[in-house]
Amino acid sequence: MSERIAIYPGSFDPITFGHLDIVRRAVRCFDHVRVAVAFNKDKPSGLFTPEERVAMLEEVTAEHGDHVTVDSFYGLLTDYAARVGATTIIRGLRAVADFDYEFQMALMNRHLASDLETVFLMADNEYLYTSASLVKEVAHFGGDVSGHVPETVAMKLAEKMKERK
Ligand code: ADP
Repeated sequence: MSERIAIYPGSFDPITFGHLDIVRRAVRCFDHVRVAVAFNKDKPSGLFTPEERVAMLEEVTAEHGDHVTVDSFYGLLTDYAARVGATTIIRGLRAVADFDYEFQMALMNRHLASDLETVFLMADNEYLYTSASLVKEVAHFGGDVSGHVPETVAMKLAEKMKERK
């Protein structure tokens, strides 16, 4: 049987413990997981550059060895999936707030590529309220984000905030 490759796409600006929990669960279900930073070079956005996000992801997913590859892509997720031979898209679900957007996106991706399946995984309760945007807001005002992101990410966040002031 051929290898089952799943893509976990997102902005990962930056990676949080919620994302990492989803990666860990995905690794148990698939032969290979590609964590892919989606970026838009026509309209750059976010705190960290795509390269910085990839570097942080590589560092904190290293424990999974060959099971996880970190990458970035520009353009349609369905085109990227075809390029890398993925059959599944992984998305994480938190509370109901994620549902509407995720539902829309899953149906649009199904319309674009009917053989590409979206699978939703739930992170641990502990990370139900963890979001990259909230983490950035807290870090901006010098708050403690250590329960939400790995130490190396917390350090990079603090540096970034200093640069920006
Ligand atoms: P965000 O900026 O909201 O953290 P991303 O685009 O980086 O979003 O997230 C990629 C995927 O990971 C999305 O499917 C998102 O719902 C999911 N995700 C983000 N944080 C968590 C979390 N704490 N628990 C479960 N899934 C999450």
